[in-house]
Amino acid sequence: MKITEYFENAKDKTLISFEVLPPLKGGSMEAIFNTLDPLMEFKPPFIDVTYHREEFIYKMRPSGYYEKTAIRKRPGTVGICASIMHRYGVDAVPHLICGGFTKEDTENVLIDLNFLDIKNVLALRGDARQFEGKFIPEADGHRYASELVDQIKGMNDGVYLDKNIVNGTKSDFCIGIAGYPEKHFEAPSMELDLSYVKAKVDAGASYIVTQMFFDNKKYFEYVKACRAIGINVPIVPGLKPLTKKYQLNAIPRRFYINFPDDLVKEAIVAKNSEAIREIGIAWCIQQSKELKEQGVPCLHYYTMGDTETIRKIVEAIY
Ligand code: FAD
Repeated sequence: MKITEYFENAKDKTLISFEVLPPLKGGSMEAIFNTLDPLMEFKPPFIDVTYHREEFIYKMRPSGYYEKTAIRKRPGTVGICASIMHRYGVDAVPHLICGGFTKEDTENVLIDLNFLDIKNVLALRGDARQFEGKFIPEADGHRYASELVDQIKGMNDGVYLDKNIVNGTKSDFCIGIAGYPEKHFEAPSMELDLSYVKAKVDAGASYIVTQMFFDNKKYFEYVKACRAIGINVPIVPGLKPLTKKYQLNAIPRRFYINFPDDLVKEAIVAKNSEAIREIGIAWCIQQSKELKEQGVPCLHYYTMGDTETIRKIVEAIY
């Protein structure tokens, strides 16, 4: 079923969903099942699976020169989606990115997804590769997620890259996109960033999933700003609990978001790692409860493989 249909059918009830990462290359599906098995009692209608492009690594050769190699550390997104649907009978949402994909590559993945009866995709640009200062698309790839949305919408209309294909099979993907309550870090202003989100919705996206945030006010303001410029699709809050002290620096650096002062004050004086995890869980429960009270369509948890923590949070609000 389409994600938007789940929201419509749930009416005012807040749904719960999860995001998982493919295991590192060489790992097995067991890692995914071990993450998800204990969470399935919360009846998520859908589970997102992230996509990870290749990264460059530099190896020193005996001559002393460095050799640049591209490797994909977390392959398997499409296979994992099929496996999740088969095992749990819930919808899986593969993330699709522009980075590393030509339009032809994208078309071929979409064909695979359509044949697998996967009905939903989250369309993203992806980040710049490590060691590259800015995002560089493939020569025949997309620069922005809006262009990817456009291609997916095209296939929904039966339009393929090869113009000789007439009466091509029409896919019926429900397209989700990303939104940033604290602004995407590359955007010069929130106003411009929002205008690009609107472009993605106008191109055919049907819902938005937000970057993690730790201050609900940012989410509520974001929704208000979206509505003010005519973005009327569901906006799903993405949530991740703070669990480790180093994350106080690492999360703002990696995701360009801010921690509220009250959370930092509590976390900074935590006695040990268990204490900081408890603080993070309590904070996320509080966030989740308030968002649920305000009638958000879904609470979407970034599991990052930490089932136990996510279970504690969802148990408290389910
Ligand atoms: P876009 O919407 O293309 O925006 C990127 C930047 O370009 C923004 O600053 C925007 O304001 C600007 N922009 C957009 N259109 C235009 C235009 N026409 N002209 C000028 N500027 C423009 N990354 C992964 O690699 N794999 C994942 O699985 C993944 N999952 C994610 C899930 C969620 C819910 C979120 C929030 C992010 C995820 N990301 C993932 C990270 C994401 O790929 C990065 O944040 C990336 O930098 C931006 O992606 P986007 O889709 O928001 O890009």
